[in-house]
Amino acid sequence: MSGDKDQFPTGDLLQGKRGLIMGVANKNSIAWAIAQQLHAQGAELAFTYIGEALERRVRPLVESLGAEIMIPCDVMSDESMDAAFAEIEKIWGKFDFLVHAIAFTDKEALKGSFIENTTRKIFRDTMDVSAFSFVDAANRAAKMMNDGGAMITLTYLGAERVLPNYNVMGVAKAALEASTRYIARDLGPRGIRVNAISAGPIKTLAAAGIGGGRHMFSFNRKASPLRDDTDPAGVAGAALYLLSGLGKSCTGEVLHVDGGFHIVGIPDEDALQEG
Ligand code: NAD
Repeated sequence: MSGDKDQFPTGDLLQGKRGLIMGVANKNSIAWAIAQQLHAQGAELAFTYIGEALERRVRPLVESLGAEIMIPCDVMSDESMDAAFAEIEKIWGKFDFLVHAIAFTDKEALKGSFIENTTRKIFRDTMDVSAFSFVDAANRAAKMMNDGGAMITLTYLGAERVLPNYNVMGVAKAALEASTRYIARDLGPRGIRVNAISAGPIKTLAAAGIGGGRHMFSFNRKASPLRDDTDPAGVAGAALYLLSGLGKSCTGEVLHVDGGFHIVGIPDEDALQEG
């Protein structure tokens, strides 16, 4: 997929800019589509990853962009975050943008009853990885960010509406979206813009953990005004807008890139047939 000029238009919107990408696990990751688009517009990129198994998947992708900086980072560990951001500071000193595309919860919590399947530990850990990690990364990144920089995170409609099986992750995404607004308030005076993209369902490792995934994908496709799956390239285009000068004056926003699914109150009848 790398270097696909039609999918990821080339240009110089991010020439001379440096950005940290957190959350590439494999070629299907939303962060990978975003990375390819930002690279196609001239950005220099660094990546964090978690675990040796993922390093083997991520390294060839990173190298295909001519990038070299790959730093291990578990967002649940202060020591790991300290080490990762110290490494970035050592290599770059300052940088211009941050992409946060990280979420995790126990598979058992992504099905059935929200109240029955959400233990205290699951609630805490899900909030930690999926919401607090953006607050923490934003705080650390802001200290190394050039004024006029930008940050984005990835969220989902489950923050605003009740969706089957999304459960505690929806609660974490609500916290993530509220955090986006507070971070935007804190960093606004420095000209740093902070936004979230609410993407429709995309087949990734994280999405595979959600119970009833088939129904989620087919209903989203059939009920959304565009009658299509969400294209990762569309999410990457939104990321380019929010992270480049194109997105000037836009901060604290949750931008939906979901084929318009979020505007639908009552779907057309054909969306209610399974298959
Ligand atoms: P993905 O599995 O490719 O990415 C999730 C990333 O989170 C992985 O890189 C994983 O390594 C990382 N991660 C998990 N726990 C971590 C930890 N403790 N420390 C560091 N990294 C950790 O899946 P994705 O769908 O590309 O997910 C990226 C973001 O997009 C997530 O926030 C997800 O909720 C969001 N999102 C996904 C969809 C979708 O349908 N796929 C829709 C809307 C929003």
